[in-house]
Amino acid sequence: MNTEYIKIKNHINGKWLDETNGQYEPLKNPSTGAVIGEVPLSSVQTSQAAVLAAAEAFPAWSATPLPKRMNYIFDMQQAMKDNLEMLAQAIAIDQAKHIAEARGEVGRVIEILQMACSIPAMIQGETVQGIANNINGRIIKAPLGVFCGVAPFNFPALVFGWFIPFAIGSGNTFVYKPSTESPLFMQKMMQLLVDIGLPDGVVNIVHGDRETVEAWYEDDNVAGVCLVGSTPTAKAIAEGCGRGGKKTMLLGGAKNFLVAMEDAPMDLMIENILMSGYGSAGQRCLAVSNIAVVPEIYDEFVERLLAASKDITIGDAMNPDVFMGPVISAKAKERIENYIEIGQNEGATLALDGRNPSVAEGNKNGYFIGPTVFTDVTPCMQIAREEIFGPVLNVMKVGCINGALRMIKNHEMGNGAVIFTQNSYYTEKFINEADVGMVGVNVGICAPHPYLPFGGIKGSLVGNNKVQGKSAVDFFTQNKVATVRVVDPKENNAAPVASSNAAVRSCVAS
Ligand code: NAD
Repeated sequence: MNTEYIKIKNHINGKWLDETNGQYEPLKNPSTGAVIGEVPLSSVQTSQAAVLAAAEAFPAWSATPLPKRMNYIFDMQQAMKDNLEMLAQAIAIDQAKHIAEARGEVGRVIEILQMACSIPAMIQGETVQGIANNINGRIIKAPLGVFCGVAPFNFPALVFGWFIPFAIGSGNTFVYKPSTESPLFMQKMMQLLVDIGLPDGVVNIVHGDRETVEAWYEDDNVAGVCLVGSTPTAKAIAEGCGRGGKKTMLLGGAKNFLVAMEDAPMDLMIENILMSGYGSAGQRCLAVSNIAVVPEIYDEFVERLLAASKDITIGDAMNPDVFMGPVISAKAKERIENYIEIGQNEGATLALDGRNPSVAEGNKNGYFIGPTVFTDVTPCMQIAREEIFGPVLNVMKVGCINGALRMIKNHEMGNGAVIFTQNSYYTEKFINEADVGMVGVNVGICAPHPYLPFGGIKGSLVGNNKVQGKSAVDFFTQNKVATVRVVDPKENNAAPVASSNAAVRSCVAS
């Protein structure tokens, strides 16, 4: 592994820059707890300078012919394919996502870029011929200017893929703020964008925390802000952007249900729960968290889940032989351990305690929590209501599908929910009635393919805009409407013009 000290830099208007205010935060390797570098906490001035660079790049970039813009997206995809291992290692080092999953994350972004390459098909406008005599109406999907994006720690590559290709492919320019806990992927990715010759200022990177973001709310050059993060952060950004009149796309937190019916394919379900609940050490917005099981299979399920969970191997994120790496920070470890204590205090049975797992000598100071399973959980318990964001599973008994659907409906969050069953009545009922944004059947993680929109509802989405698919292009463009009167200079147009004017007045009045 690369042991070089990592100095994270901002990238503004084509230049790698140190933060002039001199404030830096240590960057740690969660697998060992060691300080491996530093990340700037950019000032308001630096953040605004990045926006200005993006604003100055906008006229030329938005006027760049669409096929030429698309060539950059193709080149971006090729660069990611050529450098997949280097990018995956960057994620495995500072976010400590297990190296196999980090490769999967980069692979998913490559798929997203394939979708972004179809922007020319998605950005086409519409024309309504003859809305009045000699008058046509036309919708042009036009870029808006500068968009800014804020990433969570847990998907440094994926969130880049959700925002930047769609924003710049549609003709906007971008300022991106990665999480201070996982900035390394974007440092590597930005260099690839430089290498493919992306013009200066089209994508700019500023590192930092909330102040860096707050600098955008009143900045006239900013058209919109996107976030993937926790719900309190999404609400804070919504408030600031509401005051400043900015467009927003804000994906928030989650608490996902898995419903196990009496005819659930047990082997498949257990395998999927391990991937979904313990993959990325439970730090995924689509990780299963609450498992509602019908009485017919409850005992067998608990026995099978505990046996499989005890077999999960834990260790350094770069070790291909272990299943699960650490959580992101000492603070996150403490928060998860605190939830385990809360669960015990509120009467759930701690059937498997993941605190203080044994790890290799070199990882003793890493932030590890092993698989943890609570049984006898009820929906009103704090551990069932709040996002723990760690490898903790809550098993609850539920009488029938209606009871499970009620639990999901009553939950404040609405990101994803999945059911395991072979019965088409349960399947269709669940798809229709589960009160969430993303539904899955016999899959552990119901992440939609990049061709389709991704996002929750209720507390998991602030506003109405989702990432991926055509909805991403709709978000990053405005529907500019043109009303065009066709005048033949060789003819006397007096009469048609008068009647057309009447038609235009009636259009305006309606
Ligand atoms: P977070 O909300 O703490 O931070 C997210 C980003 O927002 C960071 O870059 C942070 O610097 C910035 N930020 C924090 N407070 C801010 C404020 N007041 N104003 C402006 N910016 C602020 O989230 P996190 O811990 O990095 O990530 C985990 C969370 O993200 C979980 O809640 C998880 O469910 C959620 N998430 C959701 C999705 C989804 O698709 N819905 C995907 C991934 C992660």
